[in-house]
Amino acid sequence: RAKKNLGQHFLTDKNIAHEIVNSLQRKDVKQVLEVGPGMGVLTQFLLEDKDLQTYVVEIDRESVAYLHEHFPELGDRVISGDFLKMNLAEHLPAPFSLIGNFPYNISSQIFFRVLEYRNQIPEVVGMLQKEVAERIAAGPGSKTYGILSVLLQTWYDIEYLFTVHEHVFSPPPKVKSAVIRLTRNKVESLECDEKLMFTIVKQSFNQRRKTLRNSLKGLVPEIDKVDKVLLSKRPEQLSVQEFVALTREIEKVLHAK
Ligand code: SAM
Repeated sequence: RAKKNLGQHFLTDKNIAHEIVNSLQRKDVKQVLEVGPGMGVLTQFLLEDKDLQTYVVEIDRESVAYLHEHFPELGDRVISGDFLKMNLAEHLPAPFSLIGNFPYNISSQIFFRVLEYRNQIPEVVGMLQKEVAERIAAGPGSKTYGILSVLLQTWYDIEYLFTVHEHVFSPPPKVKSAVIRLTRNKVESLECDEKLMFTIVKQSFNQRRKTLRNSLKGLVPEIDKVDKVLLSKRPEQLSVQEFVALTREIEKVLHAK
């Protein structure tokens, strides 16, 4: 029986499962972590690739027992626990790809974890609510462009791969789903305070109707020293590069004495 609080909607279409697994492109990455394998509909195809070490993390003990029974070859690469809370480095070597038909109630949080581990995760293939997938892929000027779009697009190239209908899940979710792929770009360092950039992006979008000047003046007491053209915009008008430029400026102003 599916557990609603764990976002359990099991994929029943094997062809789609196969297509999701085939969407992993980085063949040079030899480890993959699947989040929320449930009864292993994706896992079975991951295990077909003998060059790949498959790890899975599942919070539901019943599913964990099922996986041990049906996929004994996984051995101790079944991690029983909460993906959002575990220290990934303790469980598997880097780099690793991330894949999953994600529990929708925590899909945004999963992508914040991806950001945390961005230097260990070269590629992500994930199924999530269509609406959140579109948000992640949205560009500046779009109503759905937001915190996750800017931060993920800073370090990843995003592709919206395909839409998946409700009826291929049991039980069917209320909304449509989509599969997206994130490929780590070549940026190693932005040459700005990356933590500060997270703060700036979050504060700006938390009041997305305000100009950046109004949202950020609490953070930057000497806001008048920052580029006026950038500050007169609203967050959805700024490209990723402009957020980086803004962060560099604010950093200078904060550290100038
Ligand atoms: N991969 C399976 C499929 O496609 O049929 C199941 C997908 S279902 C949408 C999400 C899965 O994530 C469930 O098996 C659920 O128990 C698991 N899950 C939910 N929250 C989790 C968490 N915090 N950490 C790990 N797994 C979680």
